Amino acid sequence: MSSRNNPNRIKSHRSYTVIEVSELLGVHPKTVRNWIRAGLPIADEKRPLLIDGADLKIFLKLKRKTYMHKCEPHEMYCFKCKQPQLPDAESLRFIAKPAGMAVMTGYCCECGCLANKYVSWRDVDSISQKLGRKLPKAEKHLNL
Ligand SMILES: [Zn+2]
Repeated sequence: MSSRNNPNRIKSHRSYTVIEVSELLGVHPKTVRNWIRAGLPIADEKRPLLIDGADLKIFLKLKRKTYMHKCEPHEMYCFKCKQPQLPDAESLRFIAKPAGMAVMTGYCCECGCLANKYVSWRDVDSISQKLGRKLPKAEKHLNL
């Protein structure tokens, strides 16, 4: 997977399918679907999913800013608030990913927007503790 995300190759006045976006930017189609889950708007619910070029450009621009922002481990960057925010502890979830990673998702405690980010499984315990959250049963076995 290359990382040559070049928003300049995106044309604002046309729509792209997931595959087209992945080919254009040299990313895996799964990555594009993750972006959609992370808040990249889609034109409508019809298949194939169409992504507006203008939306995609904005999303990538925000995404780059996210990486520049220094979030604390227990904070997540909220696209709506445009700053790191604490996730609502009740909504906090960790989804196991390969290579010892996890996706941390939760609703922004300020605006209620869904935010997510990649964290290391090693940090899941300390993040949960910081947010004052007891691990529910479903997640316990992942901490053995
Ligand atoms: Zn927010």
